[in-house]
Amino acid sequence: MDCIFCKIVAGDIPSTKVYEDESILAFRDINPEAPVHILVIPKCHISSANEITEENSSVISHIFECIPKIATAEGLEKGYRIITNIGEDGGQSVHHMHFHILGGKKLPLKLA
Ligand code: AMP
Ligand code: ZN
Repeated sequence: MDCIFCKIVAGDIPSTKVYEDESILAFRDINPEAPVHILVIPKCHISSANEITEENSSVISHIFECIPKIATAEGLEKGYRIITNIGEDGGQSVHHMHFHILGGKKLPLKLA
């Protein structure tokens, strides 16, 4: 499958990893929109959060168990934001589900 994030999981495309275990990977966004901008992905290909099912949802809870540890390691004690974009109107550009961790500054509240 021609999926850039599957290629990152496979090691075919380089990334700056901040966390990895058997089922998930976290790496720095190549085009950061905040001082800390990390993407957290399942290693298995799930296209978007709209494709979460009973069969694959355990990786979602695992991602959300790991995010606080990643945030602590990144010094985000003052807070941060988790975003997942879904589909065209949601602004999703990479169709392998990912959660953006954004922080390191006071983030604007309004959508652009
Ligand atoms: P989204 O628009 O929500 O699908 O987010 C995709 C994100 O992936 C964007 O913030 C991109 O900057 C980021 N991105 C695309 N390619 C790479 C890459 N090779 N390494 C790290 N981040 C990437
Ligand atoms: Zn993929």
